[in-house]
Amino acid sequence: MAKAQWGLNPDILRTIFYTVVEPTILYAAGAWGSIAARVYAKKRLDSVTRAFAIKISKAHRTVSLISSATMARILPLDLRLSEQLELYEIKRGKPMSQLPGRELQIRVHPSTLPHPARRRRWEFSWVTEAEQIETSEAWNYYTDGSKIEGKVGAAVSVWEGDEEIQHASFRLENYCTVFQAEMMALHKATDMVLKSNRTATIHSDSRAALQAVSNPNTLNPIAVEIRGKIEAAKEKGRPVQLKWIKAHVGLAGNERADELAKQAALHNKRAPAYDKFPISYAKKTIRALTIEKWQNRYETAEQGAGTRLFFDSVRTSNKVMGKIVSSNIIAQMLTGHGGFKQYLHRFKLANDPFCPCDGSSEETVTHILIECTRFENERWQCEMNTDTRLTQRSLKQLMADDKTRGHLLKFSLKVLKAAARANGSTAL
Ligand SMILES: [Zn+2]
Repeated sequence: MAKAQWGLNPDILRTIFYTVVEPTILYAAGAWGSIAARVYAKKRLDSVTRAFAIKISKAHRTVSLISSATMARILPLDLRLSEQLELYEIKRGKPMSQLPGRELQIRVHPSTLPHPARRRRWEFSWVTEAEQIETSEAWNYYTDGSKIEGKVGAAVSVWEGDEEIQHASFRLENYCTVFQAEMMALHKATDMVLKSNRTATIHSDSRAALQAVSNPNTLNPIAVEIRGKIEAAKEKGRPVQLKWIKAHVGLAGNERADELAKQAALHNKRAPAYDKFPISYAKKTIRALTIEKWQNRYETAEQGAGTRLFFDSVRTSNKVMGKIVSSNIIAQMLTGHGGFKQYLHRFKLANDPFCPCDGSSEETVTHILIECTRFENERWQCEMNTDTRLTQRSLKQLMADDKTRGHLLKFSLKVLKAAARANGSTAL
């Protein structure tokens, strides 16, 4: 269903790869993933990766895994397998070497929740303007969490009527999420409610946090603790109401909590009140390492020179390839595998590797794009349009820059097609 010249659209193939092939192959990676280090296992994984990468990028069958996966924007399966394995072990309690002594925020086990028959969903109402804030018996608690300049803080401000009577603020580790901060602010508020002797209304501007707390089936460990504390307060005769408050509309309590949380993030020098890392952090860190490994392979591989001509790094190629519609001629350009004499000769489809322009220069993509005298006019036009002389070095820059890429591609595809046609290549 997928050939270089026709068949399924590359985006669909890519989706099939990510949603069907990869999950199927990586199934239960935690159990068997350690064999990925063995040569025969890596070979088999590589062959699946390469087969899909070639189809997705619409490249010739001879293209290497390095080039095809780079163009197709997929990660080799063996690297994905190591990721899955690492994540599995971290979830089972293995510390991350980047965060010595820190623990993952682990979901609570469902068996520790109350019996399903006794679980009750709580409702929370909304506050969007000052008139909706009740200033009667109950104290109003305003909570907020904030991430600013890579730092994380949380705060609670307690009001009786129109006056703040208490407040608390603290910071969380820098890798914590805003959601964790919002949750810890609610957690702190419930602690304060338990110590007071008044009924309470707790406001948060985070709907996600309130949803976690009001959900009786939540497995979020902070939400479970908050629910416990609210139940305890209720038993002491101090029911707690939850309210979602609209942010950034000048509601004084919310503004105050926001300000306190930001201050705590930026200026609080004490040890963080919360330092469990979210799984998202583990995933992000593992992915960064994978990209590094992939980059290292990309740079040092024997194959892939044709692709390295256009991209310094897999990060750049990923960004750029996301903006280009794959086609066979693009793949020919980015790999050198196509209707060019040097390639044709290599695969015994031409008697010699030389370009007709002088009969002595090898006809490669580089030669056609930056040297070949047959295309001087087109090249000159491209150089005018991009205000850049075409050289091996400038190809990468022109490719990376959104403003020049279009001109480079237009020129390249035109002359590469012409060169391939002159060699009798029909695969265009
Ligand atoms: Zn030439």
